[in-house]
Parts: sequence; structure tokens; C-alpha cells
Amino acid sequence: MGRKRILITGAAGFLGSHLCDRFIKEDFHVIAMDNLITGDLRNIEHLFHLENFEFYNHDVSKFVHVPGELDYILHFASPASPIDYLKIPIQTLKVGSLGIHNLLGLAKDKKARILIASTSEVYGDPNVNPQPEEYWGNVNPVGPRGVYDEAKRFQEAITMAYHTFHGLETRIVRIFNTYGPRMRLNDGRVLPAFIGQAIRGEDLTVFGDGSQTRSFCYVDDLIEGIYRLLFSDYAGPVNIGNPDEITIREFGEEIIKLTGTKQKLITKPLPTDDPKQRRPDITKAKEILGWEPKVSRAEGLKITYEYFKSLPQDLIEKIEHKDFSSYNK
Ligand code: UDP
Repeated sequence: MGRKRILITGAAGFLGSHLCDRFIKEDFHVIAMDNLITGDLRNIEHLFHLENFEFYNHDVSKFVHVPGELDYILHFASPASPIDYLKIPIQTLKVGSLGIHNLLGLAKDKKARILIASTSEVYGDPNVNPQPEEYWGNVNPVGPRGVYDEAKRFQEAITMAYHTFHGLETRIVRIFNTYGPRMRLNDGRVLPAFIGQAIRGEDLTVFGDGSQTRSFCYVDDLIEGIYRLLFSDYAGPVNIGNPDEITIREFGEEIIKLTGTKQKLITKPLPTDDPKQRRPDITKAKEILGWEPKVSRAEGLKITYEYFKSLPQDLIEKIEHKDFSSYNK
């Protein structure tokens, strides 16, 4: 019997590239797809020489054609940092709506099982903490985060509809803040922002009073959770994240300690609709998948700091001025 064939969209991104590595390791034939708006080929270039790896530079918002059979699809294509989806709101909406529609159609045609990347953003600025899957959320559809949050909510809805109406095998993972090697140092997210600032000798910018909370999951733990979910028989949404919750101010202090920087925390205005608290309830993941995170923040941060320090100087210095305007059609 030949290898199982899996399509991974967003394959050159942070999570997509780690998924490529995992499925190569498990001896799958990996078909990687990305349009490289926010992804970076450097994340997967070590796989290009393999006979069981192929790459398509394609925007999944347009019709997706994959020759041959497909057993699995992982839909991870989407801008995912608040800075990115502020810059490319239309593309964000399209990949979460037109893109998922194309991929569900492909899954139906190929009789493939599809797992989609959803997000804790479906809970918006939650009034319930921690957030269980049953919580419906508190989302502002017309705020700056609406383009991401509502696209992901639509994505869950259409995925469930294909499941119930067409009997498609579907899986939905709700991903909470995740970090690790291959995050972009300049994507605006708090962890690379703080570490980048420390490395460059700048002050660390805390937005608002820093009392808002997040719960950070190391990438290897997340990938293990996704892997287990794909091979489970559960079609409802499952939270995957690390419930170890911390305020952003405390987190900044941890980064100062970790990096030994002499710089301090400074305050910047809080972005609109910034969630005040976020922590996954992972009871379902524990029960259904036998999964829970293993890597502590101290361990994960150390590995990630070493990774960022090892980047070439131009990437550390570089502030991104990528022109995204043509994507907002
Ligand atoms: N944040 C911050 N300083 C920064 C970047 C982000 O204080 O330089 C805050 C942001 O306001 C939010 C939290 O850190 O409360 C996490 O932001 P991030 O963009 O990483 O992702 P989010 O969880 O909001 O999607």
C-alpha cells in the first residue's frame, strides 16, 4: 500500500510548516500549499528534496485542484496575527469563506477527511473564563478583529453543514495562543514583539495596563493535539491550548528575566476589542484525545528565545513594510 496523502494549506506558515514536518515524520505524502502572503518558504525548504513532499504556490480562495487521491486535508491558510488581518482584511475574509468552501468541495470530491484550524477568537472578548467549547462567544462583527473572528465562525458553520448534510468527515480545532520557532519576529504578536524588542535593546511595549490575560501553548504540544484530533472520531470543535494563564504585564517581566535585557516595560494604547481574558478549558481534549500540554512556559520560551537569537541579523533588525494592498481585492 502506498503512503497516505495529505494536503496542508498554509504550509509555509508557522503552524503549517510544523504540521508538514510531523506528517513527513509519520511517512505521509505531503502536498503543501501556500500563496506566501504571510508564509515563508524558509520554513519548509528543508523538505523540498524529499520524494514524499511537494509544494504548490496557490491561493486557496481560488479553485483548488490537486491531482490524484487525497486522504486528508488540513486547512491552516489564513493571516492569524491582529496586525496581519488589519492589513489584509479582505483576503482574511476570503480565505475563511471562499477558501474553506473550495477545500470542503475538494474533500467531498476526494472522499478525504478535513480538519480546519479555528481559533479562540471565535469566543471574542469572552465573558466566561476559562472558555469551554459550549460557550458561544462575544464577538463584535464590525470591529477590526471581525474580519478574522467572523471568517473563522463562518468556517466552523460551513464545515458543520458539510458534515451534517453531506456526511463529510470533518474535525475542528480551536487553537489558543501558540508560540515557538518559526513565528515571524515582526508579526506584531506579543511574544515575538517582546523578544524582538529585548534582542534589539528596545523597551517592551505593553498595550493597555497589561492586566489582560493570555495562555501560551508551545507549538509541539499543539501539533500533538491536532494530530490526535485528526485521527479521533469527534466532529465537534475541540479547544487545544495551554491553560497556564498569565497577565501580559507579568509575561513582559518574564521576558525581561529570560533575556536579561536592561530595558523596561512601557505602555501603549490598548487596541480596540482586545480580549481582556483568555484561557482554554481543555476538559474535552483530555477526555476525547487523552491530550494535555507537556511543555512549560519556561521550557518553551527558552527554546523560542534561542531560535529568535539565531536568526540572521537582517531579520532581527527588519521591520516589515510588505505591501499587501493588492491582496485586498
Ligand atoms: N500586546 C502587547 N504588546 C505588544 C503586542 C501585543 O501588550 O507589543 C498585547 C495585546 O494587546 C494582547 C496580547 O498582548 O492583549 C496578545 O496579543 P497578540 O497580538 O499576541 O494576540 P491576541 O491574543 O490578542 O490575538
